[in-house]
Amino acid sequence: MRYVISGAAGFIGSHICDRLISSGHQVLAFDNLITGHRENIAHLLKNSRFEFREQDVCEAFEIAGSVDRVFHLASLASPVDYLEHPIETLESGSTATRNMLEIALRHNARFLLTSTSECYGDPLEHPQRETYWGNVNPVGLRSCYDESKRYAEALTMAYHRVHGVKTNIARIFNTYGPRMALNDGRVVPAFIDQALRGVNLTVFGDGSQTRSFCYVSDMVEGLLRLSECDEIYPVNLGNPTELTILGFAELIRKRFDDAVGIDFLPLPSDDPKVRRPDITKARTILGWEPRVPLDEGLTQTIDSFKTRVAPVTTLAWTAAESSPDRVR
Ligand code: UDP
Repeated sequence: MRYVISGAAGFIGSHICDRLISSGHQVLAFDNLITGHRENIAHLLKNSRFEFREQDVCEAFEIAGSVDRVFHLASLASPVDYLEHPIETLESGSTATRNMLEIALRHNARFLLTSTSECYGDPLEHPQRETYWGNVNPVGLRSCYDESKRYAEALTMAYHRVHGVKTNIARIFNTYGPRMALNDGRVVPAFIDQALRGVNLTVFGDGSQTRSFCYVSDMVEGLLRLSECDEIYPVNLGNPTELTILGFAELIRKRFDDAVGIDFLPLPSDDPKVRRPDITKARTILGWEPRVPLDEGLTQTIDSFKTRVAPVTTLAWTAAESSPDRVR
């Protein structure tokens, strides 16, 4: 099949491209590289079934030839990135979603929207089921992301209802793995990067807020299964194993022999207090659930990050190992 993928040089996008190319499909990949990285797909560029266009899908575009699947992943998905680029974030949920839906419509292709657990905002229902409508601050700092994704879901449903486009909506919960940007502020790369550099982990608030982390290969499998089924309503994809951010910090500290301590910093505004997916629906209709335990996924992730942390920071890590006063 021929897949058109926006956000292809991003974290999850590039892993999807790998999987599709290794399964023998063709991929036409788009990314404007605002947060994606060419290195994530560099190894695919020589493959004749892989074509990359550095292009912003907010600009309308045409595609020659047939298309079977359209995946819209382009988005500024980390709080640091969307706070820095709120307008681009709103555009990627609105204009870009519409452009990708138009491609699906014109080519009679299936469309997959990668939405987010942020649609639930700071949830009052826990764990979150797809039927929960959310608790979102429409004018808060995170609203550029939350509301644009909620709009993207509404637009996707409208294209399905008005034009009959075959659509799927995945609500992606926190996902981690190799190729995450080290500096995008998300908690998994932030803590690993800090631990590798031998500086204290930065826990926001008292660390009692919860998240659950899904390894990227599990997420890719869930997305591909969803894109082959007829479910039009949102489906949660994520790992239901929940832990507090402080608990996660302790877990990372242990992986580094407690060589770093913890600094407590203010909690960002509207930071959700709890988050955990109810994945009953994905289990039932996709026969999917995460397989990679956190320990195993973290080993892969830490190993991949080790090759990316600058040598000078490796020295800092070495120094921290023999510096007892850094331990909390
Ligand atoms: N967080 C933290 N320290 C960091 C980065 C994040 O304590 O250096 C917290 C953040 O406040 C949130 C959780 O970790 O409660 C997950 O944050 P992330 O940015 O990874 O994604 P989110 O789930 O908020 O979209």
